Amino acid sequence: MRVLVTGGAGYIGSHTCVELLLAGYEVIVVDSLINSREESVRRIEEISGRKLEFHKVDLLDKSGLDRVFQQAKVDAVIHFAGLKAVGESVAIPLQYYKNNISGSLVLFEVMAQHGVRNLVFSSSATVYGDPASLPITEDFPIKSSNPYGWCKVMIEQILQDLYLADPSLNIALLRYFNPVGAHPTGRIGEDPKGVPNNLVPYISQVAVGKLPELKIFGNDYPTPDGTGVRDYIHIMDLASGHIKALEKLAANPGLVIYNLGTGKGYSVLEMVNAFAEASGKKIPYKIVERRPGDIASCYADPSKAEKDLFWKASRDIKAMCADTWRWQTKNPNGYE
Ligand code: NAD
Ligand code: UDP
Repeated sequence: MRVLVTGGAGYIGSHTCVELLLAGYEVIVVDSLINSREESVRRIEEISGRKLEFHKVDLLDKSGLDRVFQQAKVDAVIHFAGLKAVGESVAIPLQYYKNNISGSLVLFEVMAQHGVRNLVFSSSATVYGDPASLPITEDFPIKSSNPYGWCKVMIEQILQDLYLADPSLNIALLRYFNPVGAHPTGRIGEDPKGVPNNLVPYISQVAVGKLPELKIFGNDYPTPDGTGVRDYIHIMDLASGHIKALEKLAANPGLVIYNLGTGKGYSVLEMVNAFAEASGKKIPYKIVERRPGDIASCYADPSKAEKDLFWKASRDIKAMCADTWRWQTKNPNGYE
């Protein structure tokens, strides 16, 4: 089976490509490299011991994408490509809507022209906003408070409408909780440009001495220790969820939606302590104001994916921190 992976050079895409190649899929990566480096593609091949096809093409380049589909004989698409920084999306909404929405529309159009009916889409727990209760199930209402999240809500809606118009499509909307960690070899991992926005890459750069201290955004939330609680999921568990979703699509399920999370929430302080233990380093921190737009707690009910996809996250926060630390120490400057 031939799977075209948009954004396959990025963080989640690269780990998923390794799993796809090891499972025997033929992989075609389309990535503009706007937020990644081709070195990650080389390392995917190194880890998996297999070759993939790489095309440096932007999704907004319809004729470029069309040429890839003409050559590639694609059976299914996993669509990761998109800009993903919430704060940046508030500052430059037009670029976000253009890249993420228009890029997706071009992709869906080219897929339709080439008769490709199977799609896995990277959605996010951000579509649940501040949930009314916990844990979060897939039938909770979806909404957003920033352009990044609206892109996810809108693309989900576009896919719902495409499916209504053509029920022979098979579409899996995967709502990821908080992906962290790296491949256990330490050869691929998350390589944020500039100062990281997300907690675990930030802690990791403090531990390695690149940043002086962590700023914890608020300790007055209604959580056990007052700091924000999230459902962190190991990147390899998330990657394997995509293989399970492809297997599901092969059985013609129509449009399906799954939370990919562990079902367990950890606070910022629990993550700091787990990382300090895994790295053997002190993580200096100070408590600062809440970050605008943050919610107190968010964790999944992952039982639907468990039941339908036979998928369950198996790696704990020890592994998440140890694998992040291995990647950080082996690659202090990422792929540079
Ligand atoms: P990433 O930035 O590492 O990977 C995205 C990749 O897409 C990059 O390699 C980038 O170069 C590429 N890309 C962006 N726009 C493109 C375009 N127009 N044409 C071609 N390539 C383009 O991000 P990631 O963390 O791997 O996220 C992958 C997907 O998962 C994104 O859609 C993101 O919104 C979603 N997601 C991520 C998280 C997270 O915390 N990392 C959580 C939920 C959902
Ligand atoms: N956080 C923090 N300091 C940071 C980055 C994040 O205290 O430098 C907190 C944030 O307030 C939230 C948790 O860590 O409670 C996870 O934040 P992240 O940005 O990684 O994920 P998201 O908020 O998008 O779920």
